[in-house]
Amino acid sequence: MKKGRTNVTESRFPCHLWEIRDAKSALDMMETALIRQYGTCLELEDSFALHGNYPDYDDEGSRRLLRCKVCGSLLLVQSSLRECPYWDEPDMYYRDYIPVASVEEADLLNILWNGEELGEYPFRHLKRDDHRYLWTEGEEPVPLFPEELRRRIREKYAGLSPKHRELLEKLICEAGKKEGNGDND
Ligand SMILES: [Zn+2]
Repeated sequence: MKKGRTNVTESRFPCHLWEIRDAKSALDMMETALIRQYGTCLELEDSFALHGNYPDYDDEGSRRLLRCKVCGSLLLVQSSLRECPYWDEPDMYYRDYIPVASVEEADLLNILWNGEELGEYPFRHLKRDDHRYLWTEGEEPVPLFPEELRRRIREKYAGLSPKHRELLEKLICEAGKKEGNGDND
């Protein structure tokens, strides 16, 4: 099997919290460390923006990669913040927690899916929407293979200019390789 991966720690998939039936309990139990900060949008090297990294609400948000401190698994998380002074917890309007099997998979999903698309991750995942906590419907998650993700990225962005396709290739090649920020394994 082709390896070529760096900065990847073997870990459980999905996170142990997927065994907790009640979504709020699962989120209350969550303890994580920051691995990557993907920021508010995905940009190519020349600042050309490919997509936003959170659902398109009238608010602010971002995406990041976290590692569960209990089982070591990885979670791709996107969140939106909305200022709503009359709410008790105005700082957490919306979050998606997507299980990923490797930093490479997370980097590639970050390239492939915009905020809305990641929110529609086809397997069961944790969501917080306003004050609702829920497990989405769907099958138990399976890891998405990097080669398949690379193929889908190239297909999705086939309409880019040759120069931007070249910069996109660079991003694709770097997936899973860059040093993580905040990863102190
Ligand atoms: Zn876990």
